[in-house]
Amino acid sequence: MNWNNIRRQVKKDFERLGVTRCEKCEAAYPLGFAHRYKRRFIKTAEEMKTVALLCNPCHEKIEFSGHENMFDAITEIIEAR
Ligand SMILES: [Zn+2]
Repeated sequence: MNWNNIRRQVKKDFERLGVTRCEKCEAAYPLGFAHRYKRRFIKTAEEMKTVALLCNPCHEKIEFSGHENMFDAITEIIEAR
């Protein structure tokens, strides 16, 4: 399972959905995909595709809030779409 390949697909999916800005604060850049778990702990392609598009400051804030909060925060963003 290769994140770079999955990332390419996810990027297309997000563009199709019209998600091109930070899903928390609407910033246009710098953006990245945020997972619910640390990437090294992700074992399935499904989980690998379960991401939110976040700007770097929002991504960092969520990461530093702890693993459990990270899971909940990303899940919340995805469910609110
Ligand atoms: Zn943001």
